[in-house]
Amino acid sequence: ELILGIESSCDETGVALVRTREQGQAPELLAHALHSQIEMHQAYGGVVPELASRDHIRRVLPLTQSVLEQSGHALADVGLVAYTRGPGLAGALLVGAGVACALAAALDVPVLGVHHLEGHLLSPFLSADPPQFPFVALLVSGGHTQLMRVDGVGRYALLGETIDDAAGEAFDKSAKLMGLGYPGGPALARLAEEGDAQAFRLPRPLLHSGDLDFSFAGLKTAVLTQARKLGDELEARKADLAASTQAAIVDVLVKKTLAALQSTGLRRVVVAGGVGANRQLRSRLDAACAQRGVRVHYPELHLCTDNGAMIAMAAAMRVQAGLAQPQRDYLFDVKPRWALEEI
Ligand code: ATP
Ligand code: MG
Ligand code: FE
Repeated sequence: ELILGIESSCDETGVALVRTREQGQAPELLAHALHSQIEMHQAYGGVVPELASRDHIRRVLPLTQSVLEQSGHALADVGLVAYTRGPGLAGALLVGAGVACALAAALDVPVLGVHHLEGHLLSPFLSADPPQFPFVALLVSGGHTQLMRVDGVGRYALLGETIDDAAGEAFDKSAKLMGLGYPGGPALARLAEEGDAQAFRLPRPLLHSGDLDFSFAGLKTAVLTQARKLGDELEARKADLAASTQAAIVDVLVKKTLAALQSTGLRRVVVAGGVGANRQLRSRLDAACAQRGVRVHYPELHLCTDNGAMIAMAAAMRVQAGLAQPQRDYLFDVKPRWALEEI
């Protein structure tokens, strides 16, 4: 069966086509297309919800067309339409949900609303070397930072999460006050490669808290204080400050992930979400896990941030696991706030 996936929760419009295979075989990605609105929102220093919704409207059908062309399939071949039901911006979500339901109604096929974070979580299954259950998942995105125990599709137990900012937010906010634009995570990471990570002593919040929770709000304040202290010198020391900031974030992420492995006794880690693209995080985690004989899986680099492939994939895996009830009433709703444990 062919599943069309539509992602529109924030500032990326993503569409993809996957094909489910026999039981026990991972679904196959046939084509995907993406449009990022980053440039449009950059002038405002953050995502403007109304502009995001309007741009999703403009992009979603051309992207769908492109995915069909790439895959050599016709719209009529699609057997299920999946869309991101939440969490995310309400208006942005409604665009994807509305288009998905309209397409499905016209095709007379069912629709399925997918949890955005389940999409991120299952995105490593799109890689050439997919993980096996069970594993510890480190979900690090722009809006979430969670450690989970994952025993199978739909079997997610929260081990710990951030009590304030997400890891991606820590990257973005620090980058913003260093004048690196929005979202500055990738720019901060790039600059950090030229800096000295030991140059500034920044806090590692909750590192020794004994639980698996995170806190990044204090780090951002410490970066701000350091930047102010540097004054005119900031420009010359920016790479050092970026490297020190990245080291603080990565340090906490790696140590808490190791603690989660220890407390669960599991020997496999899956990293997902935009911050999973961070090279420093990957190399530190790889090194620490190699020492302990633990396997680490990542999504492909271009599938770490939002995309339609992970939505189609999550739908395919839920259907295969017998967990999803695709709908035919086309009465869609969206869930701007929606905890992963609730599904
Ligand atoms: P959520 O999925 O929680 O709703 P989101 O969809 O906005 O949030 P993602 O698309 O998964 O988040 O990831 C975007 C985040 O990843 C941004 O905060 C961005 O700065 C960060 N990011 C992307 N690449 C890197 C990198 N190389 N280093 C650090 N951060 C990065
Ligand atoms: Mg985004
Ligand atoms: Fe996301």
